[in-house]
Amino acid sequence: MTAPACAVCAKKPVAAQYRPFCSKRCADIDLGRWLSDRYAIPAVDNEETEDTGRFAGTPGQD
Ligand SMILES: [Zn+2]
Repeated sequence: MTAPACAVCAKKPVAAQYRPFCSKRCADIDLGRWLSDRYAIPAVDNEETEDTGRFAGTPGQD
């Protein structure tokens, strides 16, 4: 029998109680990565695009 390797460290075999990780430590690491990925998504900033459009449509005042 060959147990699959841990999804985080890929060195130790998966433990049944922590699948697909080898230990609670690796499970916590994966959770931390998942959370940081969620909060690392940058907000879409289209202010520059709007400003360019306004500039193109500005009428001359002469
Ligand atoms: Zn591990």
